[in-house]
Amino acid sequence: MVKVRFAPSPTGIIHIGGIRTALYNFLFARHSSGEFVLRIEDTDRKRIVSEAEDSIFESLSWLGLNYDGKVERQSQRLEIYKKHLQILKEKDLVYEKDKAFYFKMPKEGETSWVDGINNKKIVFKNENQEDFVLIKSDSYPTYNFANVVDDHLMKITHVIRGMEFISSTPKHIQLYNAFNWDLPVFVHLPVILGAEKGKLSKREGAKSILNYREDGYLKEGLLNFVALLGWTPKKDKEILSISEMLKLFNLEDINNANPKLDEKKLNWLNGVWIRKLAEEKKLEELLFYKYQKDEKVSWVFKNPHKDLIIQSAASRMRTLNDFENLVSNLGKAKFQGDDKKITSDLISFLESEKWEEENFIEVLRKFNKERGVDFKKIYFLLSGKKEGLPLPNLLKILGGKAAFLKNLKDNIK
Ligand code: GLU
Repeated sequence: MVKVRFAPSPTGIIHIGGIRTALYNFLFARHSSGEFVLRIEDTDRKRIVSEAEDSIFESLSWLGLNYDGKVERQSQRLEIYKKHLQILKEKDLVYEKDKAFYFKMPKEGETSWVDGINNKKIVFKNENQEDFVLIKSDSYPTYNFANVVDDHLMKITHVIRGMEFISSTPKHIQLYNAFNWDLPVFVHLPVILGAEKGKLSKREGAKSILNYREDGYLKEGLLNFVALLGWTPKKDKEILSISEMLKLFNLEDINNANPKLDEKKLNWLNGVWIRKLAEEKKLEELLFYKYQKDEKVSWVFKNPHKDLIIQSAASRMRTLNDFENLVSNLGKAKFQGDDKKITSDLISFLESEKWEEENFIEVLRKFNKERGVDFKKIYFLLSGKKEGLPLPNLLKILGGKAAFLKNLKDNIK
């Protein structure tokens, strides 16, 4: 049976790369009806960041990446590592220096494995390998030691993690050999690059998963985006719900090429999911939760045209946060100078023409032609915004023709 783990170290706030590792492990486990466990690798005591652990739990729970069983913490398993150190000592594979215990790496031959990505064989020459610490002078184990002992004891079948751990893998393999344990399958995921310059910029790399939530990304949009950072599903589908991902996920379809963290694509995908949730009538609940106490926005929830507002806003949104711009002070503006003159001209025009809601746009086109005022300007004068909800809907939302004209008059008072 497949069993995988997500094994973050709480040394920093969890970001996109970490969540991709968690997601791929989760998808692989669920696709294979296997198990997905969470192990907190908290043995590097000096580097622990106090909020990091909470951010791991909160992020996994927000995204619905639920793990099986209870969380294991390496700091609570020190006895186990001591016992295993003893086994290696008895095999004469350990020496002590500066109160730390070192593993004697073989210096001849090679260490190799076939990686789960493209079944590529990876080879390291042992002459380049150095002995490494198993247990430090503070009596905590190193990542290399605790990680291997735990993966074995927890019966992990596939170790799916970032490419940055490739250079540690020869150490791990030599430990497995020393204990006479079977190797798991190692799967090293390609490094995520920044959209332009290659490396992730500080801002891109440092953005925590919970920041994405604050910035108005949906879990559906973010998961969809993260899933495609290295994985191309066979059917070449781009819009994927979590249940579709579960069905299609396959380690064979993870590519070697380094995926790019393209924020434009994230915004596009998030917009797609916003519209999907709007269609399914689930968007209102999210918006209400976020904005119920924000008066600039909460008027929407009491408005008779609430559904229309939310539906038409969805067509313009990329993140939940865009909603605020779209609806706050809708139609309210104080115009001066030229804008005031043109608005007053526009009001007279609208009053002199025959039109109803259905031909609102036509009458505005006529104004545009006859007076040479461009459409962007007209939109701004009518809505108080540079861009936003579609005009015919705006007319309805602001209460129909008469109320709409009255509102315009107020704006130039
Ligand atoms: N604790 C390591 C990390 O922070 C885990 C690496 C692994 O999965 O082996 O990513």
